[in-house]
Amino acid sequence: MTLNVRNVAVIGAGLGGLACAIALHKQGFEVQVYEQAKDFRPVGGSLGLFPNGLNFW
Ligand SMILES: Cc1cc2nc3c(=O)[nH]c(=O)nc-3n(C[C@H](O)[C@H](O)[C@H](O)COP(=O)(O)OP(=O)(O)OC[C@H]3O[C@@H](n4cnc5c(N)ncnc54)[C@H](O)[C@@H]3O)c2cc1C
Repeated sequence: MTLNVRNVAVIGAGLGGLACAIALHKQGFEVQVYEQAKDFRPVGGSLGLFPNGLNFW
């Protein structure tokens, strides 16, 4: 069975969701991102990315 999926919904605009959406978009998919939060607010944290995590681009 061959699936011809071109449209993808990503639920959640956190780091994982946005990385997934960018990767899918780069592969030619139409991506819609849905986020429940009404606005962006600081949560008092930060993200540490190691060098191998930056090779994505
Ligand atoms: C206070 C704090 C400090 C932190 N400090 C660090 C740090 O110093 N270094 C580090 O590396 N990591 C840190 N982290 C961890 C880091 O924030 C998480 O590992 C990372 O954000 C996880 O990304 P994620 O995309 O998996 O999930 P999340 O960032 O949780 O994203 C999930 C998103 O999905 C949305 N969502 C959920 N359900 C639905 C739904 N039904 N419909 C629509 N949207 C939905 C949520 O609103 C959220 O925006 C910290 C976390 C916290 C809370």
